[in-house]
Amino acid sequence: MRSEYDVVVIGGGPAGLAAAIKAKELGMDVLLLERREYLGGIPVQCVHPGFGLHYFGEDLTGTEFIHRFIEKFRGMGIEHYTNAHVLNVVSRSYWHKVLTVVTEEGLFEVRAKTVIYAAGARERHAFEIGITGHRVAGIYTAGEAQTMMDVYGVMPGKEIVIVGSGDVGLIMARRFTLEGAHVKAVVELMPYPGGLTRNVVQCLEDFGIPLYLSHAVTRVEGNKRVERVIVTRVDENLKPVPGTEEVIECDTVILAAGLVPYLKVIEKAGVEIDPATGGPVVNSYLETSVPGIFVAGNALVINDLVDYVVEQGEEAARGAYEFVKNGGLPSLRWRKLVKGRNVRLAVPHYLSDTRDTIVYARVKKPEENVVLRFPEIGKEVRLPFVKPSEMVRVKLRKEEIARAGGRITMEVVGDE
Ligand SMILES: Cc1cc2nc3c(=O)[nH]c(=O)nc-3n(C[C@H](O)[C@H](O)[C@H](O)COP(=O)(O)OP(=O)(O)OC[C@H]3O[C@@H](n4cnc5c(N)ncnc54)[C@H](O)[C@@H]3O)c2cc1C
Repeated sequence: MRSEYDVVVIGGGPAGLAAAIKAKELGMDVLLLERREYLGGIPVQCVHPGFGLHYFGEDLTGTEFIHRFIEKFRGMGIEHYTNAHVLNVVSRSYWHKVLTVVTEEGLFEVRAKTVIYAAGARERHAFEIGITGHRVAGIYTAGEAQTMMDVYGVMPGKEIVIVGSGDVGLIMARRFTLEGAHVKAVVELMPYPGGLTRNVVQCLEDFGIPLYLSHAVTRVEGNKRVERVIVTRVDENLKPVPGTEEVIECDTVILAAGLVPYLKVIEKAGVEIDPATGGPVVNSYLETSVPGIFVAGNALVINDLVDYVVEQGEEAARGAYEFVKNGGLPSLRWRKLVKGRNVRLAVPHYLSDTRDTIVYARVKKPEENVVLRFPEIGKEVRLPFVKPSEMVRVKLRKEEIARAGGRITMEVVGDE
């Protein structure tokens, strides 16, 4: 490992690989660091299809999808290390970031003009979603269970209860069933499923797996191993209703209750965080509030499609390239993206009329026949429906951004 690079990419998942490939194509001096023993991130453990429809125009499994990126990355001879955990990033000056990296050979310091942070997300644990009871064996996050099954060939259990009906929970229900386990229930807090309708049908209904809507797993019980869970109905304020408890016997609880951007490493560098996304505040170049630190993928915002993750990786690489080429990003007139009616989160937070910018957003509640409006620039996009589980993606052209003063509002309204 040399001591200085134009750009160091942290994380070898789809966002990091896409960023490193694009940066290399743009002629940058790149290093990629991945803490696991293998490249590829989450898709390595995804043997189901649903990857790459937008990017490759083909429905690939996670492993097929990521294999294409790993092959390309390796073919380009990009310098990289696995088993290399980045502990820390410090921004010493505009031009000078220092990363502390733990490897099998010891601790290294690497300097970089820019950093692309693509470290993905962490899964929410039992204590974060209010599950009480015994801390016994048999409670896993979906990612842990998936890695056990699909990377190491070990079944986590036989009688399963899954917490959360987002796409991850739904896909895990099917995966367990196909491997011969009995999925006794998928339990969802909200009155509607969190994942795509296609996944509700293909992963639950086709296999006769019960979905408990407006319910929560409130307690786990067992001696050494999980023996049962208590499932309770919740009211409209999502609070458990006393007297509605039901016991489900099981040996395993799978937590698929949401992801949170994994920011431990760059938080210390002082990046500003958006409480709505849980990720950093960024501009059109996907640069954080610390100049020269860019972010992409699930570390920026939780994406439902890997295609968007790759798009963000490439965009962050273009941002890093502009930074290195011009000695920093130009000081621009930024338009603040303001969340209007039925918009829960939206990135990037600041838009520049120097480039077309893709905005990624999520709504607060499901609605049908709506218009996505940007009133200050007179842009409207008609949508047959919006759902909290499905990201809204829209491109704003630089000429459109230029029409706005200091702010651009994004809102979802009824289609009159
Ligand atoms: C069960 C499941 C099913 C899914 N199904 C689909 C699907 O059907 N279709 C679809 O499009 N998407 C799907 N996804 C989503 C997709 O996998 C993610 O959007 C994508 O993997 C996010 O990519 P990423 O690069 O941001 O993060 P990740 O894939 O999480 O990669 C981040 C990488 O960074 C590394 N890292 C973290 N911290 C450090 C550090 N400090 N130092 C060095 N390295 C570090 C990690 O080890 C990891 O390899 C699914 C996800 C799950 C969990």
